[in-house]
Amino acid sequence: MANVLVTGGAGYIGSHACKVLAAAGHTPITYDNLCTGWEDAVKFGPFEAGDLLDRPRLDAVFAQYNPVAVMHFAALSQVGESVTDPGLYWRNNVGGSLNLIEAATAAGCENFVFSSTCATYGDQDGVTLTEDTAQHPINAYGASKRAVEDILRNFEHSHGLRHVIFRYFNVAGADPAGEIGEFHQPETHLIPLMLDAIDGKRPALTVFGTDYDTPDGTCIRDYVHVMDLVEAHVKGLEWLIDGGAPAVFNLGTGSGFSVREVIDHSRAVTNKSVPIVEGARRAGDCTKLVSGSDRAMSELGWTPSRSTLEAMITDAWRWHQNGHYDK
Ligand code: UDP
Repeated sequence: MANVLVTGGAGYIGSHACKVLAAAGHTPITYDNLCTGWEDAVKFGPFEAGDLLDRPRLDAVFAQYNPVAVMHFAALSQVGESVTDPGLYWRNNVGGSLNLIEAATAAGCENFVFSSTCATYGDQDGVTLTEDTAQHPINAYGASKRAVEDILRNFEHSHGLRHVIFRYFNVAGADPAGEIGEFHQPETHLIPLMLDAIDGKRPALTVFGTDYDTPDGTCIRDYVHVMDLVEAHVKGLEWLIDGGAPAVFNLGTGSGFSVREVIDHSRAVTNKSVPIVEGARRAGDCTKLVSGSDRAMSELGWTPSRSTLEAMITDAWRWHQNGHYDK
């Protein structure tokens, strides 16, 4: 039972992490500047408003709660925006993370769980990506996350900072109990945009590129249910608390689905038509990102039991119809 500082705890993945941390008996302390998060999503522990670039504020929060670990979710995460405004990503994601890591080590907090991404691998000709695959990010978002992985390894050598790095594939779905869910403004992700198109909140879903080198011409991604993803984080925290060595784990299922396959499943789950428009490729998109996730399964005992497209779309659709946050 421990205090855990959760940066980005007001966001999509961070809020689900707070829920499972609280269910496991821990106290999640959300640290969030609400630039993309929602105070309404902070339901499972205290909220501390603050920016990662504000070192005195970070120091004060570490002193107040003396957390045993940090779970670091807070980051900008739009691939397209990172291509047009890379400075924003380096300043916020890398500069902010460096501040946080320095504040943690100064406060004697030695356990760090980091939210990284498969975008650190880049476009690798369709191979299944394992943790040992060389990282060649093709956009500033992926490059910023890879840089933070390097910082963590440097601070392991210099300060003994113990860490688990999770490289996420495509996170989808929502809390099956409907308390929290995915709510981005602006929204850029495939499944929520498609649900908007299904229920008429948007005129249509634009399919970004139909000329990729894949069986149906659309990009392939590995989708993982947000509840499965955050449960891996609790296992990662326990791994560190039990003395496990610094480690990197992919979080995906090993199965890839094309944009067209996701659309077909959504049609089946909602029993409604999906209006689509075929558009141009989106800058920064890789053709295929599919995880080799054996390591998380064998070493952490992680089982992504909810990560079928049906379950993810069903839970996202339930939240989409009933849930939202207000500023
Ligand atoms: N996508 C799309 N239309 C949209 C949003 C996304 O065709 O309106 C595609 C996107 O090009 C990618 C896949 O859906 O191939 C997943 O995109 P998303 O933004 O959800 O996640 P990402 O893979 O960028 O992390």
